[in-house]
Amino acid sequence: MDIAKVVVDVPVSATDALFDYHIPDHLKTVVKPGVRVVVPFGPRHIMGFVVDLTDDSDFDKLKPIQRVMDYEPILTPELLKLSKWLQHETLCFRISALQAMLPAVFKAKYEKEVWLLTEEDALPDNWQRVTQGREVIPFQDLQDAQIPDSQITKHIEVGDIELKYVVKGKNRVKTDTYVKLALSEPETLEKLDDISKQAKQQRQALMWLIDQEEPVRLKQLQQTLDVTRGPIKALEDKGFISLVQREIYRDPHGAEQQPSQSLPLTEQQQNVINPIMDNIEQSKHDVFLLHGVTGSGKTEIYLQSIEKVLAKGEEAIVLVPEIALTPQMVTRFKSRFGADVAVLHSGLSTGEKYDEWRKIHRREVKVVVGARSAIFAPFDRLGIIIIDEEHETTYKQEDYPKYHAREVAKYRGDYHQCPVVLGSATPTLESYARAQKGVYRLLELTERINQQALPDMEIVDMRKELEKGNRTMFSDALVDKMSERINRGEQVVLMLNRRGYASFVMCRECGETVQCEHCDISMTYHRTQHRLKCHYCNAERPMPDVCPNCESDAIRFFGTGTQKVEEALREQMDNARIIRMDVDTTSRKGAHERLLQQFADGEADILLGTQMIAKGLDFENVTLVGVIAADAMLHLPDFRAAEKSFQLLTQVSGRAGRHELPGEVVVQTYTPEHYTVEMAAAYDYQAFYLREMQVRKRFGYPPYYYLVLVNLSHSHHVKAVDASKRVAELLARELGDDAQLLGPSPSPMLRIKDRYRYQCMIKYRQRDDVESALSQLLNQFQKEMTQDDLQLTVDFEPYYFM
Ligand code: ADP
Ligand code: ZN
Ligand code: ZN
Repeated sequence: MDIAKVVVDVPVSATDALFDYHIPDHLKTVVKPGVRVVVPFGPRHIMGFVVDLTDDSDFDKLKPIQRVMDYEPILTPELLKLSKWLQHETLCFRISALQAMLPAVFKAKYEKEVWLLTEEDALPDNWQRVTQGREVIPFQDLQDAQIPDSQITKHIEVGDIELKYVVKGKNRVKTDTYVKLALSEPETLEKLDDISKQAKQQRQALMWLIDQEEPVRLKQLQQTLDVTRGPIKALEDKGFISLVQREIYRDPHGAEQQPSQSLPLTEQQQNVINPIMDNIEQSKHDVFLLHGVTGSGKTEIYLQSIEKVLAKGEEAIVLVPEIALTPQMVTRFKSRFGADVAVLHSGLSTGEKYDEWRKIHRREVKVVVGARSAIFAPFDRLGIIIIDEEHETTYKQEDYPKYHAREVAKYRGDYHQCPVVLGSATPTLESYARAQKGVYRLLELTERINQQALPDMEIVDMRKELEKGNRTMFSDALVDKMSERINRGEQVVLMLNRRGYASFVMCRECGETVQCEHCDISMTYHRTQHRLKCHYCNAERPMPDVCPNCESDAIRFFGTGTQKVEEALREQMDNARIIRMDVDTTSRKGAHERLLQQFADGEADILLGTQMIAKGLDFENVTLVGVIAADAMLHLPDFRAAEKSFQLLTQVSGRAGRHELPGEVVVQTYTPEHYTVEMAAAYDYQAFYLREMQVRKRFGYPPYYYLVLVNLSHSHHVKAVDASKRVAELLARELGDDAQLLGPSPSPMLRIKDRYRYQCMIKYRQRDDVESALSQLLNQFQKEMTQDDLQLTVDFEPYYFM
């Protein structure tokens, strides 16, 4: 096979083709699927991924591959196949799909280093002339010595050397000094007399080292035996030991964990885990929806399923929303599976992420716990995929490729014939509906461990507060309860529900909001025209001066920042110690964790924050949770507004009273009679599901219809409007009969970074009805996108409508 099929790094068109290149003889054993190469392309040389090898090509004169960038595949055959599927599913460039599966280091400027894994004298002479006693050699040295590529590949394959990618300038691979015996054990014992009897520490250190199987960290030796550097130096000088630099993995999670054991499962847990275990045993692929109230022991189910998978010699991926990847969460996995766990999240530096990825690539770990992109972990014996908090929107990537991790999980679960478990206390309507139809297998945990009660939720009607003359942000009930807790030395979590930008209008006297009568979403206030618009269907109307319901003039935009709330809170509660957590106070690396630790250490009475505090936190001393503006999310211009509010209220209430002390929740709202608020307070997911499904059916939203959103933007307003019309015309002409086109309409945030934004929404039931129209759209506008300033994106299963 001397022809390579290559995906080149040029975005040509949405249906980009593979290019054939000839493999020169000296690269025959080096070029494999999953390796990156440099190839001539027009006048330039560019990077590409080899995805296949073949003997024949439709073209006669093929250009040769110029050189390779990797000496072993960085993507598995499965992931190469997956990239093709992603390209088709999300209409992205194949190259973006391939790149999305790799850690950022491969996109950065890096240098390669060769690490010796064997004794130097095991290598051929031409290598030894380069290595010269070093354990780490710049790759360039091999090139300078003209060591053939095929030899490099061979030595990697047999495990003599390892190739590492080092991001230029920073994040070097971290090393530490290790000690090893320089002689064999008998030789050492024989020479022992060379050490004087007085040199006790030297003798002791040597005897200890003889007992070690592997080289040990110098620090460890010094700590264990309490020896200074002197005796070590002496041993080295006498030729007993040698000191070497070895890589230590950066461990972002620090200290060792206390090991934890499987807990005996409750009867409900046992019933739930059985079918998953059967799947694992029979290497069968089902998608399970694990619907369990907060604190019902879902995590224990994950842990024990994984244990089974590992016993079978297979591997596990666990996805957790970024924000819930707290040290607490990670500890639960590390304490069960120890060093078998890699952790991947966005808080890690590029180098740290690469370290974790490499552990997976080299099969040094068997479990990965991570945020969205961990779904691409290059395991090749996957035995289970778990997605915790499956309803979280962070599982959908907003950039290209706009994939949903759940769909990728299903693809990989099918490929490996292993179970996929979706867990949540508040599943998405889409998932629950699929479970109802039997597409997913539904597993339910209805009780908390130890039958602990869920905290009481009190709904406070803010309209009544206004009537009473309380014009502050805090109801009397909330203030009373906060003071009570603080006096008792307990803690409070206060959540301000804020999603920036979109401004909806609401009457503070009666809670009325203005909805679009066609779309059942809140209309958005447009400042420039002083009008209200629906950005799904583009209906508009003037901004009312008085409330259409009660004629009060207290109708206005809604939304306050955390900073303002903090100020108000300080005024109201003189003596309270407050920690504020929002994007501003947590942007620095580690700030998030530090603030939470301070709160856990009791350094504050009140933790005030945005949605980011709703998830995954577990503080013993928190007995009160307050939600300041439950409405803010309820009236987002988004058909999922009710669902998201229900999820958030359920989740935040789970923060209170998780341990001995009973918890309580206070929810402030202007619309206490809204079914979402009522049903969340009653913890009635079923009722909410049934009710919300009616709304979705009536207005034609998922899960009854699929959605695809076409977004476009341009720096000239007139051109944006013009393009939006042409986009809509093309779609109207090309879409299948059963697809429904809404728009074009201005996005709720019409202008971002000086770009004017418009959108079209399509509702459809069968992909066939939209696919060819969307491909044509992308092809037709390709030129305008590369030559003019137009941006056009297609987003299947959209989550953001801003
Ligand atoms: P969820 O993930 O559903 O919110 P968790 O897995 O966090 O629930 O479980 C809540 C608490 O119950 C945890 O402290 C966990 O250690 C404990 N737990 C779970 N299963 C059991 C069990 N079978 N026996 C005793 N304690 C359990
Ligand atoms: Zn009103
Ligand atoms: Zn509308």
